[in-house]
Amino acid sequence: MSEIIWKIIFMCIWIGNGIIRMPHSKKYKKTEKIKSQKSSREKFLVFLVGIGTMIVPMIYVFTPWLSSFNMGLPNWVRWIGIIGFGFELIFFRWVHKTLGKNWSPILEIRKEHKLITEGPYKYVRHPMYTQIWIWVICQWLILSNWAIGIVGVLTWTILYIVRLPEEEKMMVEEFGEEWENYCKQTSKKIIPFIY
Ligand code: SAH
Repeated sequence: MSEIIWKIIFMCIWIGNGIIRMPHSKKYKKTEKIKSQKSSREKFLVFLVGIGTMIVPMIYVFTPWLSSFNMGLPNWVRWIGIIGFGFELIFFRWVHKTLGKNWSPILEIRKEHKLITEGPYKYVRHPMYTQIWIWVICQWLILSNWAIGIVGVLTWTILYIVRLPEEEKMMVEEFGEEWENYCKQTSKKIIPFIY
């Protein structure tokens, strides 16, 4: 299959993710927040993830600048990336729908914030972060390029490591015993039954 076809498939899935997120971004802007961790470190790390998961893949798709980093993965491996990315789309929609108005791109508590424990949140406490791991790995496989893989995985790993403990601390401060009971019931963070 020619490189252009992989790029077109990748772009279709990429746009699909954007379509799923769009209504939630609109609702997010309208919701009133009562606690917000808008630190410059958090903003910077989110910005870096944007570069790793959006800007670098777009540079690859629309310019020849990163082609020297091509890995030449066999087609079957790239197909695993497509299947994984297709699954990611369905999963992403499920997570967003379940989290509803409680979603935010940064660490925040909104007015009338509700602790969600059902749907994907029954199996892991951070399904949206599971989805981002699937995203960065699948785009690496589909586009078969070292630059995309390393920049995507590295920027997301940094944000994940910094954010997760802060988010869990914020949730325990906000929900107290309710959050602690939830952690007992749903003990895994991102991989059901494993981690
Ligand atoms: N870490 C979660 C949510 C990511 S969105 C996940 O991976 O699915 C980030 C926002 O979601 C945070 O600002 C926090 O307020 C909110 N949040 C995280 N877990 C939540 C839960 N179980 N119920 C409701 N809101 C939650």
